[in-house]
Amino acid sequence: MLRELKTGRVRLVGAGPGAADLLTVRALRAIEGAQALLYDALISDEVLALAPAHCLKIQAGKRAGRASMAQTTINRLILRLARRGLEVVRLKGGDPSIFGRVGEEAEFLRANGVDVEVIPGVTAACAAAAQFGMPLTHRGEARRLLISTARVADGAVLEDGWQAAADRETTLALYMGRDAAGAVAAQLIGHGRSRATPVLAVENAGSLAARAIPATLAGLAAALAAAQPTGPVVLLIGDVAARAQIVEAAPVPLPLRRALP
Ligand code: SAH
Repeated sequence: MLRELKTGRVRLVGAGPGAADLLTVRALRAIEGAQALLYDALISDEVLALAPAHCLKIQAGKRAGRASMAQTTINRLILRLARRGLEVVRLKGGDPSIFGRVGEEAEFLRANGVDVEVIPGVTAACAAAAQFGMPLTHRGEARRLLISTARVADGAVLEDGWQAAADRETTLALYMGRDAAGAVAAQLIGHGRSRATPVLAVENAGSLAARAIPATLAGLAAALAAAQPTGPVVLLIGDVAARAQIVEAAPVPLPLRRALP
């Protein structure tokens, strides 16, 4: 009974883009110490394998278009595990604060008396830029990084506010934008962004399976249709994308040593 009354603690952990050596040391320690691990569909097997064998592992969604646990179910499940006094790790792809629903989960848990710690991770845009040797900001070229997503219905972008994204000195990192790419490109061009603006679409950033799909804004939808990516894609839109180095295959990750500082 007493165990049930424990308020517990939950760590909301960024798993980075997939490769285990892109975890932060703090994230690695949290995973290695987890007794219960709830993870999203995009979490790689390589990262999951770092959890202890006895750890309870539960997949909690989310992958676009596929059925996944409702957010309220996930919240209640995390709460129940925390109240049992378990070391709970909620593992999210990339950084938990970027399209990771970290706000909703953290608020719910805190409102229920659970301590919450957030551990950051490498977000997809940073992993993609690093892997293909391009900056996201660049002196005199890109002074602004806009991390955004688009809501699209019937092929049309729903929201306004594209002015900042259309500015020449903005690098737009568009998440969950694969299917909306054509509509977004049309909006940007409509707001004055050059049709020749370079774009790098990166599929499976941060892993050995990464693929860079270069395009221009005007040719983006056609380039994606030809490449038919099936993995997660982040779109990096802006002049900096012309600096991408696409010649080499993805670098081989460093072996992960267990004895980290
Ligand atoms: N919290 C995550 C984003 C979750 S939203 C982060 O910080 O990266 C899911 C979207 O993120 C995907 O639709 C895709 O746009 C992007 N994404 C996640 N992992 C990716 C990867 N390995 N490569 C490319 N894009 C990725």
